[in-house]
Amino acid sequence: MTGHAVVTGASRGIGLAIAEALVEAGYHVLGTATTQAGADQFSQRMAGQGQGYVLNLGDQSSIDAFTVALKADHDAPLILVNNAGMTQDNLAMRMKSAEWNAVINTNLNGVFHLTQSFIRGMMKAKFGRIINISSVVGRMGNPGQVNYAASKAGLEGFTRALGAELASRNITVNAIAPGFIATDMTDTLSADQQAAMLERIPAGRLGQPKEVASLVRFLSSDAAGYITGETIQINGGMYMN
Ligand code: NAP
Repeated sequence: MTGHAVVTGASRGIGLAIAEALVEAGYHVLGTATTQAGADQFSQRMAGQGQGYVLNLGDQSSIDAFTVALKADHDAPLILVNNAGMTQDNLAMRMKSAEWNAVINTNLNGVFHLTQSFIRGMMKAKFGRIINISSVVGRMGNPGQVNYAASKAGLEGFTRALGAELASRNITVNAIAPGFIATDMTDTLSADQQAAMLERIPAGRLGQPKEVASLVRFLSSDAAGYITGETIQINGGMYMN
C-alpha cells in the first residue's frame, strides 16, 4: 500500500528520519513543524516527495486548521505517525500546573484530537496504520518527568483501546517506545547526565533516529497487518519487559 503518510514533528530528530524512511518506502509524506519556516524547510528537503504543514498539537485551532488544509490538498492519508512530543521537566513537588498541562495537552490530548480526524478516511479505505511514538519513560518512570511519563503511559493505553476498536477494519494501532535516541531532546543533557545514561544502556550507545524509523517503516507495511495494540521497546536493552 502506498499513498500519503502524515508524520507530526517531522522537522527534525526522529520525525525527520521517519519521514525519510517512509519516502524510501514509496509514500508521499506530509510532515509537520510548529512554524511556517520549519514547514517550508521540510517541503524543500523532501524535494517533491513530501510537503510541510504547520501544526501545534497544544492548540485545538491549529489542529483544526491542519486537518482542513490536509482535506483540501489530498486524499485521506492512510498512515498517521504521531511522533511530535515535548518535555517540560520539573520535580513533582515544584511542578506548575502550566507545565503539567502543556505536556499532557500536547502529547496526549492533541494526539487524540488529531487521530480522531483520520479514522473515518481509514475506515472507508478499509486500511490504516496509526503509529504512536511513546517513550521508555512511560513504563519505567523517570524523576523530574511525572507529566511526560503520564502522557506517554496514557498514549500506550490509548494505543491498546483504539487498536481494539479498529482491528476488524484492517486498521492497526501500535506504539513504539524509544529509549535514549541521539536528537535535540537528548543533546540538552549535560555531559554528566549523558555519561550516567550510557551506564544504564547495555548496548553502550545512544540509539539513532534511523533505527526508530526502520521500525515505523515495518509497522506501516502490509507485512505488519496482524500486529495491533502493541508497544514495542527500542532501547538497547535499557529496559526489558
Ligand atoms: P525533537 O528533536 O525535540 O523534535 C520534536 C519535534 O516535535 C519537532 O519537529 C517539533 O517541531 C515538534 N513539536 C514540538 N512541540 C510540538 C507541538 N506542540 N505541536 C506539534 N509539534 C511539536 O524530538 P525527538 O527527540 O525527535 O522526539 C520525537 C518523539 O520521540 C517525541 O514524541 C518524544 O517524546 C519521543 N522520544 C524521544 C526520545 C529521545 O531520546 N530523543 C526518547 C523517547 C521518546 P519544531 O521543529 O517546529 O519545534
